[in-house]
Amino acid sequence: MKRVKFLYNPQSGDGKMRKQLDVVFWMYQKYGYQVDVLRLDENSQEMDLFPEPADTYDHVLIAGGDGTCDIIVNEMLARGIETPVAFLPMGTSNDYATYIGMTQNVEESLRQILTLPPQQMDLGKVNDRYFLNVFAGGYFTDFVQRTDNDLKTSIGYLAYVLKSFEVMRELRTVKVRITAKEAQYEGDMLFCTVFNGISVGRMKLAMESRGNDGLLDVIVLKTTQITELGPTLIKILRGDESALADPGVLFFQTKDVTIESLEPIPTDVDGEKGPELPVRIECASNRLTVLGVSAHL
Ligand SMILES: [Mg+2]
Repeated sequence: MKRVKFLYNPQSGDGKMRKQLDVVFWMYQKYGYQVDVLRLDENSQEMDLFPEPADTYDHVLIAGGDGTCDIIVNEMLARGIETPVAFLPMGTSNDYATYIGMTQNVEESLRQILTLPPQQMDLGKVNDRYFLNVFAGGYFTDFVQRTDNDLKTSIGYLAYVLKSFEVMRELRTVKVRITAKEAQYEGDMLFCTVFNGISVGRMKLAMESRGNDGLLDVIVLKTTQITELGPTLIKILRGDESALADPGVLFFQTKDVTIESLEPIPTDVDGEKGPELPVRIECASNRLTVLGVSAHL
């Protein structure tokens, strides 16, 4: 009998997953799987999440947000567990799962996971740690973390618009040096983002991103004038791809980029606090086998 290891956090996304558990068991039973469940909670950090031999499972299913998926994927890869992985978007921010084509419809997402061919997907790697979706640096990006979670869930990007105006009042740029084979930049920036995925907090920025092209999408907002920034931000919020060609935006795709700054600045990796600069960010090409992928290939 095929076996799946299912890790879920009952708290994530306002307890959405709890109501969907029966759908998970029903679908796996239908497709001939035995389900081993691990319920994640505040004690999970000290727990051994994978005590069984590495080849025990046909795949691992993670229900949670980007942060939870990140932690588990890092844990697996650090221990040499190369089992295919599937993601159910059940957290507050689910940018990566959404990017690869998962939806809030658990039955449909599971059907994709259980029937589509596995795909070798890229991961981002900042210093020694893998990430699924995005690395961000700068005072401006810090608003994603500071935006109230309930607000984020209920009104989506409007929350960011409101927050952006608030942040603009405390606008602060930093001097950075960004070095890659494809581009170099030395000067002021509001924020820089290095995407493996396409969006942050549901806001689509890396509109040309592909999940297994061996490249990360680097987007730097270097504009310091509010008059220039306004139109660019509006385009970004509307998902208008032409924002990437605006004069205040630096956009390029690369396998490898280094970011340095003269002063310490806040960084964020998939919604969690990130490392201090300088950082080296690489694309770990085809690093993770992912199930159910139906978009951005
Ligand atoms: Mg890519």
